[in-house]
Amino acid sequence: MKSAFEAAQQYFEEAASIMGLSDSMKDLLVTPEREIKVQVPIRRDNGQIATYIGYRMQHNSARGPMKGGLRYHHEVNADEVLGLASLMTWKTAVVDIPYGGAKGGISVDVRDLSVDELERLTRRFVDEIHDLFGPDKDIPAPDMGTSSQTMAWIMNQYQKFHGFAPACVTGKPVDLYGAEGREEATGRGVSNLTLAFLRRLNRTAETSTFAIQGFGNVGTYTASCLHQAGARIIAISDVNGGILNPAGIDIPAALEYSATKKTLTGFPGGTPISNAELLLLETDVLIPAALGNVLTADNAHDVRAKFIVEAANGPVTPEADAIFRQREIPVLPDILANAGGVTVSYFEWVQNQQYFRWDLSRVREELEKYMTRSFNRIWTIAVEKKVPLRTAAYLLAIGRVARATELGGV
Ligand code: NAD
Repeated sequence: MKSAFEAAQQYFEEAASIMGLSDSMKDLLVTPEREIKVQVPIRRDNGQIATYIGYRMQHNSARGPMKGGLRYHHEVNADEVLGLASLMTWKTAVVDIPYGGAKGGISVDVRDLSVDELERLTRRFVDEIHDLFGPDKDIPAPDMGTSSQTMAWIMNQYQKFHGFAPACVTGKPVDLYGAEGREEATGRGVSNLTLAFLRRLNRTAETSTFAIQGFGNVGTYTASCLHQAGARIIAISDVNGGILNPAGIDIPAALEYSATKKTLTGFPGGTPISNAELLLLETDVLIPAALGNVLTADNAHDVRAKFIVEAANGPVTPEADAIFRQREIPVLPDILANAGGVTVSYFEWVQNQQYFRWDLSRVREELEKYMTRSFNRIWTIAVEKKVPLRTAAYLLAIGRVARATELGGV
């Protein structure tokens, strides 16, 4: 199976060839601007020294300071981080926020470290790279294994070198220069886009059915926003399996159950189904919001959904994507579908730069504006060029980065 990076490369190549991008521009756009790899030693609570490797891959800054998450995970490696950095370049370009793309990570199993050790690790990493990131250079954010607390430590340590600079990082706690609405942003963005998608197909939330895989940050907020819009959500799931109720699941009750029991297993509002069965349900909209590579050449022929929204990163493999194209099942691609998080990160940065705070209703209103505008742009490209939505998204993103590069020059 292709990695997320290889899949993105394939889509990049396809779009680049449709738009007739020159080889020299292709070379420039696939080459990262800077690859940072540093030693991050800390003293463990037991007095021993432990050494970790930290990465920050800065892929492209043609459209603005680079932006992307910081991941703490034992499988973090240079290739993966670089691949994710390039995806951020396309994601920020699709939603037209003035950023480039970057990604960072430390190869560490967070379950092995105490909170104090994680704090020392984070501060030491900042000591190593503080000259290479910052509000106008590269702005990290939370990702797997990191949280708003990690961002608070980064901000505090960065400021010891550079003075007051809350915009050096986003995804901070709301009580420390974070933005209202950041936590819900990715799921809310998925919901905004899904509703825009349905409108284009002359459908409404009330007359459509939905199946959502994954009931974590993205899945729960997607479900609750769609529920508020009147959607009939017939299936939801978490790592332990799913719940089916063709009459519509009581989403507020499921949210409460899952928050209390830490699982959906045993939720009384439906019958149990497996995650594999959920993906093959007869539903209008299927929203994979958990893992990558869940829709593959093995099950794509059996999918009965009419539309797919990639809330997770890379849930549809390129092989499955080809099958959906052939079966004329539209797929709203991840680089747009889950861009709500980075968009609200941008709003946080804007507020920090202005020393001004927006209220939640303004954040939600602006998010919807950005999501819907990007969707409409992609829809128009897809119709005009007769290409799938994914190709349209890459055409839009690559075109924007290439134009900025040409205008700025080298
Ligand atoms: P999360 O950890 O909060 O939730 C993940 C959910 O998936 C949980 O309900 C978990 O039980 C479920 N899950 C785990 N393994 C599963 C399996 N084998 N089968 C079915 N369900 C399984 O994660 P999240 O933040 O909601 O992220 C979900 C996806 O969205 C990831 O692909 C992530 O990269 C992507 N994403 C997240 C954000 C964000 O802002 N959180 C932004 C962009 C993309």
